[in-house]
Amino acid sequence: MLRKILIANRGEIAVRIIRACAEMGIRSVAIYSEADRFSLHVKKADESYCIGSEPMSGYLNVYALVDLAAATGCDAIHPGYGFLSENAGFAKACQERGIVFIGPSAEVISRMGDKTEARKAMLAAGIPVTPGTEDNLSGIDEALQVADKIGYPVMLKATSGGGGRGIRRCDSADELLRNYARVISEATKAFGSADVFLEKCIVNPKHIEVQILADQHGNTIHLYERDCSIQRRNQKLIEIAPSPQLDEAQRQYIGGLAVLAAKAVGYTNAGTVEFLLADDGRFYFMEMNTRVQVEHTITETITGVDIVEEQIRVAAGLALRFKQEEIVRRGFAIEFRINAEDPQNGFLPSFGRISRYYAPGGPGVRTDTAIYTGYDIPPFYDSMLAKVVVSALTWEDTIKRGERALRDMGLFGIKTTIPYYLEILKHPDFRAASFNTGFVEKYPDLVNYSNKPRPEVLASVIAAVMAAHTGL
Ligand code: ADP
Ligand code: ADP
Ligand code: MG
Repeated sequence: MLRKILIANRGEIAVRIIRACAEMGIRSVAIYSEADRFSLHVKKADESYCIGSEPMSGYLNVYALVDLAAATGCDAIHPGYGFLSENAGFAKACQERGIVFIGPSAEVISRMGDKTEARKAMLAAGIPVTPGTEDNLSGIDEALQVADKIGYPVMLKATSGGGGRGIRRCDSADELLRNYARVISEATKAFGSADVFLEKCIVNPKHIEVQILADQHGNTIHLYERDCSIQRRNQKLIEIAPSPQLDEAQRQYIGGLAVLAAKAVGYTNAGTVEFLLADDGRFYFMEMNTRVQVEHTITETITGVDIVEEQIRVAAGLALRFKQEEIVRRGFAIEFRINAEDPQNGFLPSFGRISRYYAPGGPGVRTDTAIYTGYDIPPFYDSMLAKVVVSALTWEDTIKRGERALRDMGLFGIKTTIPYYLEILKHPDFRAASFNTGFVEKYPDLVNYSNKPRPEVLASVIAAVMAAHTGL
């Protein structure tokens, strides 16, 4: 078994990995930039090292991180999500230094991180893929030609894109002309590659993804699916496991397809196969994420499998502890990404000091975060502050628990997406489990919630004041 792991990440996912280490008797080493000096992951790890005054570059410095792991006696590195998690060069550098990279092989990362290569691999394996270009586009002329052939609307995508960026829907040749240079410039800046490709736009699809686990002994299983259709600008806001919009036959089919996809590329460790589900009931492969996903929490909740622990065990060369038929699932789980953003102001990031924070609790509630009362949110990173995960045996009860938990949570001093999520939970479409990736855009009025104190809060304040004055 591994003895000491360097966590090449920050914030809530670093805390999540430290927790897995603690339970497994593995020492954890955290890293932090100056801006992250007061983040919880720094305090929770067994050892912590400052990786420089720059907010970003230390987290992305492949050789410095591998050196640090070696110098501190680590036998493995966990990359988390974002940062270097899907960087094949990082996995290779670890391997060359005899350090275990907790993820798939460098070859698989590089193949699946390239969306065009991934599409080719899936086509070859007989997996249904969103119709589109076979290779990257050679220029705008080819783009226009292909778009004519597959028909508008089309999606123009950065080949090495991620995090919902580098994607544009184009409804006409005019729009394609306008967006082409824009996507290329965005892709170059964000991902260091100008490669783009075209894909048919599946209008208002459902985003259904499957969690898979694979060991180095040829065992591959899935842990059922997640529904991540509640998105804004291609970025996930709320995720659900399993999808309340699938029937059992669809569930078995998509799970099997994901295992087939993983096996076809010799996948090892934890990964996610993302599909789009069209109105006509067809599933299309979209991409594969070769790392732990933000929303792995809801799969853990419904299956009881600790995905981060499995990642570590599998990376250490151990066999999976579960066979497919041993994976049981129970009820539903919803994850809310609590972002420091102001929904009433175009989801503008809201940074600053958290004046008061307390986590929601009680049955069926889990909170993953790296914040606390008095914490100053640095402006350099992702706006996701916390993940609130709720679960219950039925869809209806899971929604009720979500409402209760979001109200239970205290987070003051900054704007968050919590009040917006409460509106989504009230919406009849959401409650009826009938929504797609167009939901947020379809109901723009959901941001028009009132900021006035809720009546029950007012009532309790009045009661307290009355009691104080009358001595009751
Ligand atoms: P998930 O895929 O786990 O649901 P996201 O797509 O929201 O989560 O990505 C999680 C984090 O990783 C975000 O901070 C996002 O910006 C970052 N990220 C994802 N893919 C890439 C990529 N290809 N390049 C850089 N950052 C990425
Ligand atoms: P990323 O790597 O940034 O996660 P994805 O390829 O997974 O990019 O796409 C992100 C989101 O964009 C999807 O969840 C979906 O909502 C939307 N999307 C992507 N491709 C298509 C498509 N061909 N048709 C319709 N929506 C799409
Ligand atoms: Mg994706």
